[in-house]
Amino acid sequence: MGYPAFNLTLEQLAGVEAIDVASLSELARADLTRWVAMPSRLRDGILQQMADYVAPIGATLDGPCTWLDPETKQCRHHQHRPQVCRDFAVGSSGCRQWRAAYHELL
Ligand code: SF4
Repeated sequence: MGYPAFNLTLEQLAGVEAIDVASLSELARADLTRWVAMPSRLRDGILQQMADYVAPIGATLDGPCTWLDPETKQCRHHQHRPQVCRDFAVGSSGCRQWRAAYHELL
């Protein structure tokens, strides 16, 4: 996924005060709550990563998430991870499919 995938656009994350919270999905509201509670250095880092992101040329998959530690294979900021990461069941069929797809990248 390239970077932590919060359920909000770069423009929304960069200007949360302008968001119409009532119009957001439940998942997006959960991510918004986490986003505003996150240390500003992490928020700034993600905004920069989203702005600078370029998908790998010729690849059908995005690169690894920037929060993934390649040595430990763990999330560097697990307590701040987006809702999609919380909902993704480790060991599920979807999990195994993604692991197989990314196996050669990691
Ligand atoms: S759990 Fe962490 S490392 Fe894994 S995709 Fe989510 S934010 Fe990235």
